[in-house]
Amino acid sequence: MAKLIYINGQYLPHHHAAVHVEDRAFLFGDAVYEVIACIHGHLADERAHLDRLERSCSELQLHMPVERETLRVLMRELLRKNKTSNSAIYIQITRGSAKRDFKFPSPDTRPTLMMMTPAFDFENNQGVLNGIKVKTVHDIRWKRRDVKSILLLPQSMAKQEAVDAGCGDAWMVDDEGFITEGSASNAYIVKGNEIITRPVTTAILKGTTRNALQNLCAGLGYKFTERKFKPEEAYKADEAFVTGATTLVTPVLEIDGHSIKDGKIGDVSKGLLKEYLAYVEGLRMKQVSWESGL
Ligand code: PLP
Repeated sequence: MAKLIYINGQYLPHHHAAVHVEDRAFLFGDAVYEVIACIHGHLADERAHLDRLERSCSELQLHMPVERETLRVLMRELLRKNKTSNSAIYIQITRGSAKRDFKFPSPDTRPTLMMMTPAFDFENNQGVLNGIKVKTVHDIRWKRRDVKSILLLPQSMAKQEAVDAGCGDAWMVDDEGFITEGSASNAYIVKGNEIITRPVTTAILKGTTRNALQNLCAGLGYKFTERKFKPEEAYKADEAFVTGATTLVTPVLEIDGHSIKDGKIGDVSKGLLKEYLAYVEGLRMKQVSWESGL
């Protein structure tokens, strides 16, 4: 059975779920989104994702269509109706539908809230299990990459370029030659016990997985260094990896045809994946006890 889609108060079959042609997302890409992993029936790092969703809305003067607690109930109801325990929950909020005009419509325009639950087999994610190859491409995106907006055409083009070159992901490179991030992930290199990743500015999205790793690193004896790096430095790293809500910690074994060290998955990437999953599991235990009132 096709999965249900939540749209503006209704749970509709996939083929009946639609938005108006004048929806601002359709005409202007005027929308934000979030993707939260639902692993074994529990939402990983839910609070961090909802914090970011609210921030993205606020940066664009977009109103959250429902209160956070209502949204949490709606998300769970959709997962329950779709009988899914291993999926992501995709949430999109648009500025709603209004006569086509560049200026924002009146503030009482009803935002569109849409949610769906694409399936993910987290235990058999081939990228996570076997590692991926990466290709660097020019970063041609807008300058507010800290906002998780649906303006994803440059990322889609970057990913396609990488796939055409036989790679699993693209690492985007800014005008000064520094890597910003992956097409839908944050990018890291490892040197000894140092994990290096680009600082959080408007040039990248502040990943929830990145944030969790940064907190985990201290306890694991790794130094988490936030600085820019170029592809030439990455080619010579001990390890490289990407992180994201659905890609978890995915090892990068080759960049632009250069094998990273011996081209095998390194201990740091392996260890971080294990710790990240344990962290998500830990949060899950807290969530379970919170929900059951313990
Ligand atoms: N950077 C970009 C451009 C992304 O699109 C994403 C996720 O979609 C990330 C980083 C990773 O963010 P998160 O760890 O919150 O999934």
